[in-house]
Amino acid sequence: MVTPASPLLLKGQGTQFVATVWDERGAVLPGVSLAWSVAPPVGVVGADGFFTATTAGAGTVTVAADGVVATIPLRVREFSDLEYVVLPVMLVAADRTSVAGVRQGLARFRSVMEHLRGWYQLRAGRTFPFLEPVWLPTTRTAAVWDQISYATDVPEKRGDTTVRERIELLRVAKEEYGQHFPPPGPKLKIVLVPYTGDSPDVWLGALAEFTGGSFLVAPPRATSVNCPPSGALDSRCADAAYAIGHELGHLLGLEHACQAYQDATSQSRCRMSIMESGKPPLAILLPLEVAALTASPFLSPAAGQ
Ligand SMILES: [Zn+2]
Repeated sequence: MVTPASPLLLKGQGTQFVATVWDERGAVLPGVSLAWSVAPPVGVVGADGFFTATTAGAGTVTVAADGVVATIPLRVREFSDLEYVVLPVMLVAADRTSVAGVRQGLARFRSVMEHLRGWYQLRAGRTFPFLEPVWLPTTRTAAVWDQISYATDVPEKRGDTTVRERIELLRVAKEEYGQHFPPPGPKLKIVLVPYTGDSPDVWLGALAEFTGGSFLVAPPRATSVNCPPSGALDSRCADAAYAIGHELGHLLGLEHACQAYQDATSQSRCRMSIMESGKPPLAILLPLEVAALTASPFLSPAAGQ
């Protein structure tokens, strides 16, 4: 087995492929020597399985071990050619740029996105594509990011829960993003999460630019949460999946369930929606929410191709 499966990457971006080899009894074989290659040459892959994308196009990475061969399709895109896809961006604190830390943060951020992709597929019957998470260096230190995250809590009552919005965090995160990439345009949705290493135990609130907006921000703790790809979640992962998944719903065109869609269902049921206070994996989508998502080009079967 090789992860990640069929990744979508930006030109210039790298990703670590990991191959696991089992023996005939199902035990993992350690220390197997692997031979990696890529064709056509949309990038280069090292002996350690680290792939760097160099040319836009579609390619296949092949890994061979003891006569067993696995292939992984991948696609490389220019930023200017991205259409109807979600780009997860990890904003790395100026004093948290160690390679090991950044890799772990990216893997954990990816796990939350992967869980949400599966959850939307289950509830809406289709889902959004996302690029492999990108990391960008920032000018702010970990202490500054954590402070911004604390300082901008704006409590808001929603249903029977209090959520906190993060207006200043969104402003600063967009400013750091703008140091590296041009504004995304309507065919790209950006999820911004700062990485500060061992972030303090703050509430996992998040904020999106509403209907038709392009940006979503979650506080640093989301990059220290590790979600399993499916099934049961511990409370930290459920909080992260709710915070990002709810705001992602706004980016994809949804409003708050009990205000916008309550005519179709009972008041108690609308509260179970991720667009009110329902947390994955148990959160639901109401029929009118599914219909709205189905109309979004970001959830088209052809999105991200
Ligand atoms: Zn909301």
